[in-house]
Amino acid sequence: MYESLELLKEEIIGCKKCDLCKTRKNSVPGKGNKNAEVIFVGEAPGRTEDVNGEPFIGSAGKKLTTALENAGLTRDMVYITNIVKCRPPENRKPTEMETKQCQMYLKNEFSLIKPKIVCLLGNTAYKTILGGSEISKNHGKLVQKDGFSYFITFHPAAVIYNQKLVKDFENDIKKIVKLLKEK
Ligand code: SF4
Repeated sequence: MYESLELLKEEIIGCKKCDLCKTRKNSVPGKGNKNAEVIFVGEAPGRTEDVNGEPFIGSAGKKLTTALENAGLTRDMVYITNIVKCRPPENRKPTEMETKQCQMYLKNEFSLIKPKIVCLLGNTAYKTILGGSEISKNHGKLVQKDGFSYFITFHPAAVIYNQKLVKDFENDIKKIVKLLKEK
């Protein structure tokens, strides 16, 4: 267990625990408010994130920012991270081994921030944390596990490819705000 997000970030930046360290340009630690009420968890950094070392700053990140703003939230109010902190080559899905090696960092982010809600963005986050599938059927649900409340929704990249999901995604983010007020 790390004492602070700063120490955790330093560890992630130098991490060589899995083979993704060989192909990454930069590790991408989570970023945001250390007192955030909600943490958003995506799959893995993409090309733009890999180059800059920051999560969700490409087109999917813009989609997420828009949905947050439409729900009355800003990026500064939340914390955003990924299941794995280094970009898989060609944006392939992280392997089970990579996910397992990186899991400890995510657990530390949860323990240090103690969010009211962890929002799982897309199938990889949903499957890794809750063992779930069929996000189109299960989005918008809140699931309790190991002392945390997990909210399920689409990955913003999926929303870019399928415009029909925009409304559902934006409504899900608004629902998070509503749930936070009730907690
Ligand atoms: S993906 Fe995670 S475990 Fe693998 S090198 Fe990057 S920080 Fe380390």
